[in-house]
Amino acid sequence: MVISIVIPCFNEESNLDIFYNTIKKTMINFWDNIELIFINDGSSDNTFHKLEQIYNEDKKHVRVINFSRNFGKEAALLAGLKKSVGDYVSIIDADLQQNPKYLIKMIEFLESNQDYDMVAAYQQMRKEGKVLTFFKNSFYNLINRISEIEFVKSASDFRTLRRNVVDSIIKLPERCRFSKGIFSWVGFKTYYIEYEVEDRNSGESKWSFWKLFTYALNGIISFSDLPLKISSFTGIILCMISLIYMTIIVIKTLIFGEAVAGFPTLICVILLTSGLQMFFMGILGQYVARTFTETKNRPIYIVKSSLD
Ligand code: UDP
Ligand code: MG
Repeated sequence: MVISIVIPCFNEESNLDIFYNTIKKTMINFWDNIELIFINDGSSDNTFHKLEQIYNEDKKHVRVINFSRNFGKEAALLAGLKKSVGDYVSIIDADLQQNPKYLIKMIEFLESNQDYDMVAAYQQMRKEGKVLTFFKNSFYNLINRISEIEFVKSASDFRTLRRNVVDSIIKLPERCRFSKGIFSWVGFKTYYIEYEVEDRNSGESKWSFWKLFTYALNGIISFSDLPLKISSFTGIILCMISLIYMTIIVIKTLIFGEAVAGFPTLICVILLTSGLQMFFMGILGQYVARTFTETKNRPIYIVKSSLD
């Protein structure tokens, strides 16, 4: 049995030594069968040198993929999953917010429950501001209502997959990868364990509010076409209303003759409908842009060098 552990790293130089030591200490019983796959996601600090050092000290267990620039965590995960050879593949952050002791629980669970294929950790208690928690909860409520697949609230990328799940995930060719959705989309039976998020060992989170917002939007567009349906539906309703209004006006003019009054109404209607048109064109644009990105068929990441 081989266990691959995939670790995306973006500016984590100060965490890597302690991460390596911690994971080695925690997984000591499995150590002979472990491969650690670090992905340097275009860090601007010394992350790659640190990884080189770790690799030189432990060539048996460590592999390093070095991206040519920052392609994002999702791309890093994909590169790691593709490289992995393990029967079990775990994903964990490099900042020690996710305690490796849970990996043992995950692996033991999969060993003894053959009908499950994936174990994911979720946080019961969010250790962040109320506003952010509110937005995250709203996101989950919304996307679960409008998407066909289920998004489990607060489930993280911190998880362990069986080989068959990994093989299915790396077959998905899409460029805009929203891994939370992809993990659910491929199906299989997932078991959820609760975990407590630790404080970041060092460095700071790379997720600004704006980055999270676009990430969420990306998820909605990747896994739902409801916004498009809403815009068509609103269009139909507006057409029907204007048809009725037109009929009324024609009859009125025939009976009472022409009147100049009604200018404010006209302006209001024009403003409202043109506003709606712009809004829905924007939605349409998002999907067209997505199609454009996908059809360009560019690689999801570019590897500059690798150590293995
Ligand atoms: N990460 C990455 N590429 C990025 C951003 C983040 O590989 O563009 C990695 C980062 O090094 C860390 C993990 O993804 O190992 C989670 O990032 P972070 O700790 O910033 O997220 P948070 O824990 O705040 O959700
Ligand atoms: Mg973190």
